[in-house]
Amino acid sequence: MKIPFGKPMIGQEELQAVQAVLEGDILVHGPRVGEFEALFASTTGAPQAIAVSSCTAGLHLVYFYLGIGPGDEVIVPAQTHTATAHAVEFCGAKPVFVDCILETGNIAIDKIEEHISERTRAISLVHFLGLPVDMEAISSIAQRHSLFIVEDCALAVGTYFNNKHAGLHGDVGCFSFYPVKHITTAEGGMVITKHQDLANRLAKQRAFGVDRPVEQRTIPGVYDVLMLGFNYRMNELEAAIGIEQLKKLPKILALREQNYKALHSGLKNIDEISILESSSQEHKSSHYCLSIILKKPLAEKRVQIVNFLRERGIGTSVYYPRPVPLMTYYRNKYGYRDGDFPNAETISNLSIALPVGPHLSEEDTSYITECLKSAVHMIRS
Ligand SMILES: *Cc1c(COP(=O)(O)O)cnc(C)c1O
Repeated sequence: MKIPFGKPMIGQEELQAVQAVLEGDILVHGPRVGEFEALFASTTGAPQAIAVSSCTAGLHLVYFYLGIGPGDEVIVPAQTHTATAHAVEFCGAKPVFVDCILETGNIAIDKIEEHISERTRAISLVHFLGLPVDMEAISSIAQRHSLFIVEDCALAVGTYFNNKHAGLHGDVGCFSFYPVKHITTAEGGMVITKHQDLANRLAKQRAFGVDRPVEQRTIPGVYDVLMLGFNYRMNELEAAIGIEQLKKLPKILALREQNYKALHSGLKNIDEISILESSSQEHKSSHYCLSIILKKPLAEKRVQIVNFLRERGIGTSVYYPRPVPLMTYYRNKYGYRDGDFPNAETISNLSIALPVGPHLSEEDTSYITECLKSAVHMIRS
């Protein structure tokens, strides 16, 4: 593949950082996780940052902290990654899905309140493709109903709403460092929050619920367990990579924005497609990718177009391939059916996600534009 959909930016810096960890004695419980947390906190402006083994682990820890369980409900966007809903299911609570808007893929804010009941405990949302959700509107709904706000920020490193980073508008934000995301640690995640109590609990519950970290154990091996906890720690290798990746973040985000804008201006005048708006004038998107939506004559030709691009070395993806409530597990458990989430279904069925990552050059974005135009031309005629 000449231009893969996603490609982690691993350079000498990451290689050397990993080598340094491997040459030392400390693979877990070392200084680098704390260093990565401090750097992530200062980068985003977060009062507290807790590194975890994945975004999914972070979301699970948050719902575990909230103590939600059978009988409780959480508002979950239909157009997201399965993890946003799974984290609620892990605790035995019920995700109640809300459709998105067609223009951006973000949760349909005006449909949230009709899904709130006296069992609802929290609202979760995803900043779809890095475009911030209107957090003022979400906050006022949450306030009216006394609900906790969980921001799934897996695509939102570098996303700002009103000059405040994603994850800091609600009660908690969870990030992912999976390889195709903005920055990577191979596997990994981060939870940011303004709540000191939540941060303290997560720091223990990511590591078995042990009462004190290794460095504070005056007598080695002597500790107590005060609560239930998981093994959701980040290790030193991952943190070492993360530190180097964060240093590159401004450059990565600038390139993503530049590539997004180049593709956008190249594709905006093609009648047969529309573009999901993932950029913002007044706020700040992290520009995860550029998703096009195929209109009528092309609607049934997605496979052909994807293949046409692949034959020319261009990797694509679909965000996300099916609305979560229409995945077999959720369909079987809760009885959701085709047609229940029309906008999320349109995006899943008719979109193609194009790469905008820092691995693309200017020639690459022109090449993608030209190839897509030829694909449309070929299929039209
Ligand atoms: C990738 C992704 C996740 C899962 O992240 P992991 O770090 O792999 O657990 C969760 N939510 C969204 C919206 C994602 O895109």
